[in-house]
Amino acid sequence: MDIIESMVRDNLKNILTYEPVEPISLISRKFGIPENQIIKLNGNENPYGPSPKVLPALTSSEISIYPDPLQRNLRDALEKYLNIDSDFLIGAAGSDELIDLLFKLYIYPDDSVIDCDPTFGMYSFCARVAGANVEKIPRKSNFDLDLDAITYAITKKTKIIFISSPNNPTGNICTLDEIKTLLNLNLLVVVDEAYYEFNGFSVANLVNDYENLVVLRTFSKWAGLAGLRIGYGIMPKNIISHLLDIKSPYNVSTTAESACIASLKDSKFLFENVQKIIKGKEFLFNQLSSISGIKPYPSGANFILFDLPNSSKAAEVYDKLRSKGILIRKFNNSRLEKSLRVSVGTDPDNTSFINALMDIM
Ligand SMILES: *Cc1c(COP(=O)(O)O)cnc(C)c1O
Repeated sequence: MDIIESMVRDNLKNILTYEPVEPISLISRKFGIPENQIIKLNGNENPYGPSPKVLPALTSSEISIYPDPLQRNLRDALEKYLNIDSDFLIGAAGSDELIDLLFKLYIYPDDSVIDCDPTFGMYSFCARVAGANVEKIPRKSNFDLDLDAITYAITKKTKIIFISSPNNPTGNICTLDEIKTLLNLNLLVVVDEAYYEFNGFSVANLVNDYENLVVLRTFSKWAGLAGLRIGYGIMPKNIISHLLDIKSPYNVSTTAESACIASLKDSKFLFENVQKIIKGKEFLFNQLSSISGIKPYPSGANFILFDLPNSSKAAEVYDKLRSKGILIRKFNNSRLEKSLRVSVGTDPDNTSFINALMDIM
């Protein structure tokens, strides 16, 4: 036992793991609230679920046959949908897998990556697993990028900069100029557009002109497929070809592929839900602004970050909502001690959240 334990890579022995949200079943048992009455606004999932075309596509997919490692059907469907040549496209088990694959492709232990704090936890998590150093560059007070500090932090060991746009959890979107400035720094620039469909701003059309740009997208948020794990990347052909070489051959399951293709065929329906979510976000933003002591941040995504007067009020609000079966997100980050993040839900769920919050405040 001891020998085997000692063989574990040093950087993984006591690794700080990814902080997941609590499963609904656990909350249900803890507070004696039936699962179907819990209001889940902590994972930025789609409250309207997937397209109704997905379920029939799942049942007719070839579950006993291995998927195509080159993902031809999926990449062709994405090519038609995006009007981008499939040589620039790759699918994965969530965009999370692509983040991990980029580490596998480029990062030696002791290399550095830049992460613009506060941001999505997956970049620093994958860095820790890879044994890489994370240069955390604080965002400005309004959570915009600090381009001077980023430029100053670059060393010979710096290889990748990760930009979530809109940024999870703060909601702000980068400008084209900011991304172009970063692209001229000779690093790999990964622009994570997980919430693209909620704002329509993308840098994907720059992929033709820059050899160092990777754009990540996902079906988890706008298309309601978080549980199936399906995302994709848009990037220069040579990066695609390396990633196809090193990924696990069957990374996108036949069911995920079928669900994805069915969703693209039903994108009109899905975008109607996106519109509902955007309306719900406006409702939440206005209501949050009207509560004294609360300051919401503008968001290009399907969630809103808001500040409370102090960290103990934030903890109190989080705990009291949770005990009523309303789940939102809190953070283990010194910049976000007095902040909470709420995902946009259905209209009735948004109203329940606001009413409960007003009671507590
Ligand atoms: C939710 C989220 C993802 C995860 O996408 P998956 O495709 O579900 O892996 C990636 N990036 C950001 C910024 C996210 O918020």
